[in-house]
Amino acid sequence: MSFSTEAKRELIRLKPEKSCCMLSEMSALVQGCGTLSFRGRGRFSVAFRTENTSLAKRIFLLLKLRFNIISTPEYAFVGRFGGRRICTLRLGEADSRRLLTALRMLRQNGETEDFHGVPRSIFSKKCCRSAYLRGAFLSAGSMLSPEKGYLVSFFASGSDKARIISSLLGKADIAFHTHEKGNGYTISVTRGDDEAALLALMGAHSAMMDLENIRITRESRGKANRASNCDEGNLKKQLAFAGALAERIEEYLNAHPDGGSLTGRLLETARLRASYPEASLEELAKAHEGGISKSGLYHRLKDIEKHLDEAENE
Ligand SMILES: [Zn+2]
Repeated sequence: MSFSTEAKRELIRLKPEKSCCMLSEMSALVQGCGTLSFRGRGRFSVAFRTENTSLAKRIFLLLKLRFNIISTPEYAFVGRFGGRRICTLRLGEADSRRLLTALRMLRQNGETEDFHGVPRSIFSKKCCRSAYLRGAFLSAGSMLSPEKGYLVSFFASGSDKARIISSLLGKADIAFHTHEKGNGYTISVTRGDDEAALLALMGAHSAMMDLENIRITRESRGKANRASNCDEGNLKKQLAFAGALAERIEEYLNAHPDGGSLTGRLLETARLRASYPEASLEELAKAHEGGISKSGLYHRLKDIEKHLDEAENE
C-alpha cells in the first residue's frame, strides 16, 4: 500500500466527533469531490464521486451523523478494459438543498436562492481548519512516498478553492507553493518539516511518525552518500597516483633490471604497472596472477613508492 493510501486510511478511520468539524470536513468534501447538477426550474442535486470506497463510506457516515441524510452508493466502472471503479453517492433534491443550506453554501435571497462558496465562519476554530484540510486531502490530495521525496499536493478546480487551502496552510505556518494548471490549481507542500506538521494537523499521527522515521533514515543515508562521494574522490586521487607511479617504476626497472630492492610480489606488481601504464586499478588488479583486491593493490603500489623514494634519496 502506498504511503498516501496509508495516510488516507488513517484519516478515514478517525471518529467524527465535534459537530463543527463534521461541517468543515463536509464543506471540503463537497468542494473536493462533490458535483452540483442543475435540472432546470431551480431544481438541483448534489453527488459525491470517488474511486476510494473507504472515503465513500466516510462521506456516507458524515451525511448520516451530522445531517441525518441517508445516501445510496452506486458503483460504476469508468474507462476501457475494466477501468476504475467509481462510487457515487447521489442525494435527492430535498437532501441536496438541506445539505447546502446547512453548509451555508445555499442562501435564500428574497424569492431566489443563491449559491456561495464555503463561508469564512467554517474556519474560525483551529479544530475546524484541521478538519477542512483533512477533507481536502482525502478528496483531492495526494502524497509522494517519503522515500522518494517530500510532497503533499492538493488539487483545486477553482481559484476560490485554492485560496481556502492556501489560507489554511498559511494560518498553520505550513509553507506551500501554488501552481496554476490547465484545469485548476495545485497547492504543494514540499518540505519534510511542513509535511510532518500537516499530517499531524490533519490527525494522521501514525503516518507522521512513519514519515519522521523515514526522514531519519534518509538523512543518515544522505550522510553515508556524502561519505561515499568522498571515497569516489579518493579513488580518483588513487588513479592519478597510480598513473604517475608507472613512469617512476619504469625508470627504476631500467636502472635495476633485476628489480633492485623490489622483490617477490612487489616486483610482480611493479612490472605490471610499468607494462600497462594506462590500466585502471581494477584492470591492473585483474592482470595479477591469482588476482588481488583493489585496496590490496593500492597498498602494494604505496609500498613500491616507498622503495622508489628510498632509492632516490640514496
Ligand atoms: Zn471544529
